[in-house]
Amino acid sequence: MHVPILDLKPAYDELRSELDAAYHRVMESGRLLLGPELDAFETEYAQSVGVGHCIGVANGLEALQLVLMAIGVGPGDEVIVPAHGYIATWLAVTHAGARPVPCESDERTYNLDPDRIAALITSRTKAILPIHLYGQTADMERINSLAASHGLFVLEDGAQSHGARCHGRASGSLGHAAGISFYPSKNLGALADAGAITTPDGLLADKLRHLRNYGSKIRYQNDHIGLNSRLSELQAAFLRVKLPHLAAWNARRVRLAGRYLEQLRTVGDLVLPSVPDWAEPVWHLFVIRTARRAELQKYLTAHGIGTQIHYPTPPHLTGAYGGSGWKRGDFPLAERLADEVLSLPIGPHLTEEQVDYVSAQIQTFFKK
Ligand SMILES: *Cc1c(COP(=O)(O)O)cnc(C)c1O
Repeated sequence: MHVPILDLKPAYDELRSELDAAYHRVMESGRLLLGPELDAFETEYAQSVGVGHCIGVANGLEALQLVLMAIGVGPGDEVIVPAHGYIATWLAVTHAGARPVPCESDERTYNLDPDRIAALITSRTKAILPIHLYGQTADMERINSLAASHGLFVLEDGAQSHGARCHGRASGSLGHAAGISFYPSKNLGALADAGAITTPDGLLADKLRHLRNYGSKIRYQNDHIGLNSRLSELQAAFLRVKLPHLAAWNARRVRLAGRYLEQLRTVGDLVLPSVPDWAEPVWHLFVIRTARRAELQKYLTAHGIGTQIHYPTPPHLTGAYGGSGWKRGDFPLAERLADEVLSLPIGPHLTEEQVDYVSAQIQTFFKK
């Protein structure tokens, strides 16, 4: 049996006629940027999140950068980010001119540990930027109350958590604003780069509509130092086709994750993902931990099973941040997670049989 880590073709097979129709609709319209498809998608996505405003942009990285710019984060400011996560979150802070301040995660949920945030807050801190990593929201109730008591913004990195919930409220509606990615492999993915910002704040939304388009809302009238970061009509049209399927696709991921959790309980030294009772994850990734990762990964590859490591190098140890003075040992938990995590195949079009096969191979590996 062959189980790829990711296969985008089945989603096209499922939605072929609608996606093809969307393509033809946009091509016939002759409108390629900032048109009716984007307007409609922004309205539909905001509704699905239960938040007042959605602003489509070119990708998730720029969504985060634009939000930081829009709330006035810049040189001299600090933004608290997870030490364990994807580097894009840090890059957004750096591109906004501010300094990312890493905070260790909770060892069970892999998300920003609220107990460790307060010690990092200084007079320069402007915002806390948690990632809802692997599809499960951070502990937003505690992060929000901490931020409120220090007068800080809370921004969500919602790139991996479309449809996830925290105490019943949707990812993307849990802070002052959220940066979302529709990179093709995300739970809601476009067919090229795409992103969005969601926010309940109408003034912020208005500013973001300028900032994504050269700082201009009326052509050739530039009121801000903006970017060129627009979500194309084609991608908006494709996302409109996929959005109505997101809930069913996420439910499918939940079922498959439940199967893994059941089958991999007490296997070898595996540490399985842990879900607090207030969280409803959407399983963007199914991440296990083991001290025997390299061996296990090799074994699974030999048996036709694709895996990946999210992520092999914590941002503070990357070349990109090499000049920032961090060294090995500064964030021991993030470093250990980077050494132990392994992502198994998961997705809405994976079959039960494929999941059973992956679990069986892992069980066999640990019996040897
Ligand atoms: C994918 C991702 C991003 C960046 O999104 P792009 O659309 O690729 O720019 C940011 N943060 C996290 C956590 C991601 O997984």
